[in-house]
Amino acid sequence: MTDAISSQEFMLIDWIRRLGGKRMPPALLSRLREEADGMPLLEGLSADERDRLLRLAGDLLLAKTITGLEDMAVDDAMRCRLALQMALPGMNLGMRAYENWREAVLYPAPFVVRNRWQDGMGLAHEAEQVLIGQAHYQGPLVFSWPDVNESPLLDGWNVVIHEVAHQFDMLDGPANGAPPLHKGMNRQTWSQAWNQAYRQFCRTVDHGVEGWLDPYASENPAEFFAVLSEAFFEIPHLVARDFPDLYGLLKLFYRQDPAARLPRVAEDALLPPPPPDGMGHG
Ligand SMILES: [Zn+2]
Repeated sequence: MTDAISSQEFMLIDWIRRLGGKRMPPALLSRLREEADGMPLLEGLSADERDRLLRLAGDLLLAKTITGLEDMAVDDAMRCRLALQMALPGMNLGMRAYENWREAVLYPAPFVVRNRWQDGMGLAHEAEQVLIGQAHYQGPLVFSWPDVNESPLLDGWNVVIHEVAHQFDMLDGPANGAPPLHKGMNRQTWSQAWNQAYRQFCRTVDHGVEGWLDPYASENPAEFFAVLSEAFFEIPHLVARDFPDLYGLLKLFYRQDPAARLPRVAEDALLPPPPPDGMGHG
């Protein structure tokens, strides 16, 4: 196929990167376009937005390393599929929003991490957790490939957007649900709206009320921001309906309005969230 990117061409990308070059090989643009065509997540973008998204995805592929773990081969289609999803939240923010990390790694399946922590009494604890994604402060981003592959559906679940949202949040320090805001945005307005909505959401989860938003969002304010970011890009009408203040703030932060471009997804069409015991994203 003439528009497929051969491994030699990706070697060419490495070579361009070493030289600090910016030119995107036409074959890469063509491959990105082909992958983008099949993604419901990218429906409704204007020609300008789509062009910006493809270029940012290409820049990410040139600037970041994507590594397969456990002997998993990562082909060009996989790289493009990941890069397009990574680029969507930053489409109108540019490469500076991605400057905190250099590498994304892909596991062939959900992966196990071992967490160690100390409780208030000073006792050490250790537990294993199965994750589909994880964002480390200043990188890398870690993903389960099957979950990346299934993420571009409009179902409110997107592990790539989730971890990228954490990375944006961590541009000014550890993740806390309060990313650095743009000029003209008010920090106090942001904090008040998010804190109030978070507390309210935690109360509904505590009362066992099941809704469309993944209860994992009640874990802490950083997860609340990341999970709502996923929903903002996939099921924006539900976010706008149930969290109108947050929708307005997310629109200002991401400088996009997904509700204006995406089809409405009915709440009862959404799949129930996966069981919370064990599997999640970090
Ligand atoms: Zn998370």
